[in-house]
Amino acid sequence: MGKNLIRCIEGTRDYFDLDGARFGKAMKAADHVFTAYGYSQIHTPVFEATELFARGIGEATDIVEKEMYTFKPGSDMITLRPEGTAGVIRAFLQHSMHKQGGLNKLWYSGPMFRRERPQKGRQRQFHQVGVEAVGSSDPLLDAEVIAMGLQFYAAVGITGIRTRLNSIGCSAPECRAKYRETLREAIRPNLDKFCKNCQNRFDRNVLRLLDCKNPSCKELAANLPKSHEHVCGECADHFGKVTEALDAFGVDYVIDPTLVRGLDYYTKTVFEYTHSALGAQDAIGGGGRYDGLVEELGGPSIPAVGFAIGVERVMIAMETLGACCCTAPLMVYGIAAGDEEHKAMSGLLARLRRAGVSCDMDFEGKSFKAQMRTAGRRGALIALILGSNELETGQITVKDMREDGGQSTVPLSQMQEAIEALVTVG
Ligand code: AMP
Repeated sequence: MGKNLIRCIEGTRDYFDLDGARFGKAMKAADHVFTAYGYSQIHTPVFEATELFARGIGEATDIVEKEMYTFKPGSDMITLRPEGTAGVIRAFLQHSMHKQGGLNKLWYSGPMFRRERPQKGRQRQFHQVGVEAVGSSDPLLDAEVIAMGLQFYAAVGITGIRTRLNSIGCSAPECRAKYRETLREAIRPNLDKFCKNCQNRFDRNVLRLLDCKNPSCKELAANLPKSHEHVCGECADHFGKVTEALDAFGVDYVIDPTLVRGLDYYTKTVFEYTHSALGAQDAIGGGGRYDGLVEELGGPSIPAVGFAIGVERVMIAMETLGACCCTAPLMVYGIAAGDEEHKAMSGLLARLRRAGVSCDMDFEGKSFKAQMRTAGRRGALIALILGSNELETGQITVKDMREDGGQSTVPLSQMQEAIEALVTVG
């Protein structure tokens, strides 16, 4: 005692109690929903060669310019991953997954790291669940991915998601490059009216002037030429098919010409999910098509589409909407009168756990009365009581802990049945 307490680093957090339950619910929903769409899990390292992100995300992006945690512990520069896609595509190529041909549907979850200014919904270590569908340019797949994201939010109990959609074109000279020029021409006469940040980005990354959060820049951006109206014929056709499929799926969306996303690798479709519960950081997930990334990372030309969802923001929305307001209840708390009963109880609980009943018991040598109090405090639905009489006669008392709940003493062989009559197991 007497030593300084060590706290977690600014911009990082611990998750327990209800936050632990919310986090767990998000992971379960991701597994359930993404598996239903034919995705399998991939887990890649938390740190990668810095070059992977510089090349994959783009040098002129906020992330690569100022938000990465980069180290040189030995001779190589390494970076804590700021997002998941680059690592997944690196793994996809390293393990020659493309050689099997066809479409690869992969999903991941895990921590990401960005050195941003921490605020509500913005951390330096945060978590994402994400999907990458690699190997198809079918616009129906873009729509399926967008609809799947919405199904994930529904599965964690989040309603009121808004889906913003745009097309930012492709690398063909007559497409995004031409649109960039059109945009520069439209902005140039008024460039001095944009904020300093926008002025700096005008030459390097003019698309980002469209999504500047500054109110006066926003006003100016509203009247600029719209990318989905200036993309090449192929991209316009693709976008039309995506919106058609979304309409057919019954997905609500708004076309937002100011949506460009912060990462360079996107082509054609981009989308973002927002939620009003989140305040200033209202993006709860986002993604798009990235047909050039596999090639950029040294592979063949393979089209792909995906998204990443911010788990912390999902947890904030769940909290606001009361979507997960309790931890999973403990079904059974075992109460034992003495040493022999204590040992016997541990065997009984092991049996119940194998049958899917969640159970716990005392390990602190508490008195019978104190064990009863703990059962109540832990919110157990059932107290399983083993006194010396019961142990001798091969019986057990099953007490329903809910208000007006009764109790009955049954032979040990009927214990599980008696429990299943009171709670739903499995
Ligand atoms: P991005 O690909 O950068 O749009 O990130 C995808 C999602 O991750 C966003 O929509 C957010 O929900 C979440 N996210 C991004 N950065 C952070 C952060 N610093 N803290 C918490 N969540 C974040």
